[in-house]
Amino acid sequence: MTAAIIDGVAIARDLLAGLKPRVAALAAAGVRPGLAVILAGDNPASEVYVRAKTRACADVGVHSVEHRFNAGCSAREVIGLIEKLNADAAISGILVQLPLPSQIDTELVLQSVDPRKDVDGFNWNNLGAMVAGHPRFMPCTPLGVMAMLDHEKIDVQGCNAVVIGRSVSVGKSMAMMLIERGATVTVCHSKTRELGEFTSRADLVVVAAGRPGLINGSMLKTGAVVIDVGINRLADGKLVGDVDFASASRVASRITPVPGGVGRMTVAMLIANTVASAERSSVK
Ligand code: NAD
Repeated sequence: MTAAIIDGVAIARDLLAGLKPRVAALAAAGVRPGLAVILAGDNPASEVYVRAKTRACADVGVHSVEHRFNAGCSAREVIGLIEKLNADAAISGILVQLPLPSQIDTELVLQSVDPRKDVDGFNWNNLGAMVAGHPRFMPCTPLGVMAMLDHEKIDVQGCNAVVIGRSVSVGKSMAMMLIERGATVTVCHSKTRELGEFTSRADLVVVAAGRPGLINGSMLKTGAVVIDVGINRLADGKLVGDVDFASASRVASRITPVPGGVGRMTVAMLIANTVASAERSSVK
């Protein structure tokens, strides 16, 4: 079997194109969605992500503003800005680019974002709403994976899904979204023994561990759908996921590449959340 590639670039492009009429309808009502991006320190990967996000905003007609802090900034300074943005009617979404410098209490900063502008879905209010089955904003990466599955018409109801990784932003939220759709979900993580025993029984494997080559073809069931969330920069500069693409694509039915897979979807969902936020706040 040779897996069909799920093209995240094309799916994200379609999704962003689908936002344009919504942005135009908002413009007709005098509303322009605005995304505030907060970047602290000088992490090169963060610079790349922020550029991709502001480019996607411009493409769709969402106004974006960047706010930068130096690496030595304090939580108080960042929260001071967030409080201003919370009160700014021109801002529909606030994105705090992670990681923050190590002296900053990340949770303190994230929890200061108004839940109504929390387009990354990291505020406990929004995470709780998701768990309760009444989502408002959900984390963009797992949301992007769900959008990919929908686009590919992959119905997860009743399927055995294995999620590898249990971070709030990816693994745990991914598991919640799959449960909500009727999948039987197993969450594996760094303490899981015999990972292959779980993955080899799975119809769907979502890998978000940040470990290059963690999953290979011998660990997969024939015909499985494989979603590789991992982004790893190797010593030679090459960007790879967590899945050994060559061996996995000989066993899987469908697979996402890295790059060109989930990463683009994450950006598209962030913009979609920002547009949705502007739509909600424009309803009088
Ligand atoms: P994290 O470090 O917060 O979490 C990693 C998880 O993987 C942990 O729960 C850990 O238990 C698990 N893990 C680590 N080693 C393991 C192993 N050997 N076996 C099984 N599980 C193991 O990372 P994160 O923020 O969840 O991100 C995970 C990966 O996804 C990273 O490579 C990150 O760069 C990538 N990522 C990609 C996107 C995207 O848009 N494509 C977005 C967010 C994160």
